[in-house]
Amino acid sequence: MAKKQDKKHADSASDKAILDFGKAQNYTPAPESTGHIRLKKQYELFINGTWVKPSKGVYFDSVSPSTEQVLARVAEAGAEDVDKAVKAARKAYTEVWSKMPARERGKYIFRIARIIQERARELAVIESMDGGKPIRESRDVDVPLAANHFFYYAGWADKLEYAFPGKTPESLGVAGQIIPWNFPLLMAAWKIAPALACGNTVVLKPAETTSLTALKLAEIIEESGLPAGVVNIVTGAGATGAAIVNHPDIDKIAFTGSTEVGKIIQKAIAGTGKKLTLELGGKAANIIFEDAALDQAVEGIVNGIFFNQGHVCCAGSRLFVQEGVAEKVIRKLTDRMASLIVGDPLDKNTDVGAINSAEQLKKIQEYLKIGVAEGAEIYQPTCSIPTKGNFCKPTLFLHASQSHRIVQEEIFGPVLAIQTFRTVEEVIEKANNTPYGLSAGVWTDKGSKIFNLTSKLKAGVVWANTYNKFDPTAPFGGYRESGFGREGGLHGLLPYLKLS
Ligand code: NAP
Ligand code: MG
Repeated sequence: MAKKQDKKHADSASDKAILDFGKAQNYTPAPESTGHIRLKKQYELFINGTWVKPSKGVYFDSVSPSTEQVLARVAEAGAEDVDKAVKAARKAYTEVWSKMPARERGKYIFRIARIIQERARELAVIESMDGGKPIRESRDVDVPLAANHFFYYAGWADKLEYAFPGKTPESLGVAGQIIPWNFPLLMAAWKIAPALACGNTVVLKPAETTSLTALKLAEIIEESGLPAGVVNIVTGAGATGAAIVNHPDIDKIAFTGSTEVGKIIQKAIAGTGKKLTLELGGKAANIIFEDAALDQAVEGIVNGIFFNQGHVCCAGSRLFVQEGVAEKVIRKLTDRMASLIVGDPLDKNTDVGAINSAEQLKKIQEYLKIGVAEGAEIYQPTCSIPTKGNFCKPTLFLHASQSHRIVQEEIFGPVLAIQTFRTVEEVIEKANNTPYGLSAGVWTDKGSKIFNLTSKLKAGVVWANTYNKFDPTAPFGGYRESGFGREGGLHGLLPYLKLS
């Protein structure tokens, strides 16, 4: 448990106590044990229910971004391997999965959910080791939500005709699914669970830097007894993803990742008849009105941008504060930032873990320089950060303006740009002034303001007096350059069905 060493001092002066409260050096380390996890030295491709060596014999290392230690070697799938996986998925679709009664399909999906729950601790630890996110998040957010997605969609498997009354839902066939590195297991669950519930089979590619929990999921799928070929997991980098996208026998592509790659995929499949959903980048506005509960709002802002090191497509990376409370909010925010603990992702006290890759850290550091060069004022807490591994201090930019690149472009790191506003009209215009449209947050005491803003903010998701809250029953997705299609909820079934 966390231990505050400076207790006597903290008790005697409450103001000082707030400042001292979370300083990293005041806590004894509380690392999660790794003794119980089972990682193989080398992982093959999961094709047709078995582990297959890559045809070209190429492997790459999966490295911990916090310790820089090689965790495992992972197979790189080439186009031949992707072809094998698609053939296995097609065979499983036509011969087994599409013929199986829906309630039987549901049972398998339930079983996968149950095994994820049973192995939750192991999955959470591996997620933090491989991806860099704090154990508190992988344990309390990623893994339980992943299990819940399987539970939720298992329930839909035999009720599809009730989801779309008057229509006849039919499966599509083989789904090719490509996911990013920020929520590796959770994104796999978001993709696989609805696809299976709707009667499709799957070829999924995790991101190169975070393959391990997807491979663990393959073990779970094996343990669940799911018929061979229904889910195939092929690891590799962008070229493996492109081989899935360009395979002629795939009926649907589901992609989560950057807008840049999303556009490449959209062009590649134009005219092929493949169905497509894209969950892309974002530059969310978090808006604080003068009448908001400021302490709650500040906590929500901190959670919205520093949660998962800002590696969140819906991260609240632009903050708009109404002028009358700007000074107060900034003071509360900088105080709160001073207590954030940056460090070992496996430590239960850690708030901000490791940046997923050296490449991503470099990109974030570039943006920090750009922000300063553009004339914004940079603030970083004095906390220490580990010297080994990829770490970045939570960063605030004051006096940012609409034209700044740090306000317009997705940084995908723990960097918040602050602007002020006077009127509702002004903040709506500023918040909508981005090519993206994924999410937004509104903090106010007035329900009328919430309804006014939610109808005018161009974002697929708008949270009110909370932020970054997810539930399997709620649809998620964006528009404009943030993509199209919804994942989660009843809406999340639609991309995997033909309705007649
Ligand atoms: P990315 O570079 O677009 O990669 C996403 C996935 O696509 C990875 O598996 C990647 O493989 C693969 N890929 C790369 N090039 C490809 C190509 N030409 N064809 C097919 N697949 C290809 O994105 P990222 O850097 O991993 O993730 C960060 C981005 O994802 C951010 O922009 C973020 O906003 C977005 N994101 C959006 C959502 C959402 O729900 N809207 C959720 C999470 C993340 P490798 O990485 O292995 O090379
Ligand atoms: Mg890794």
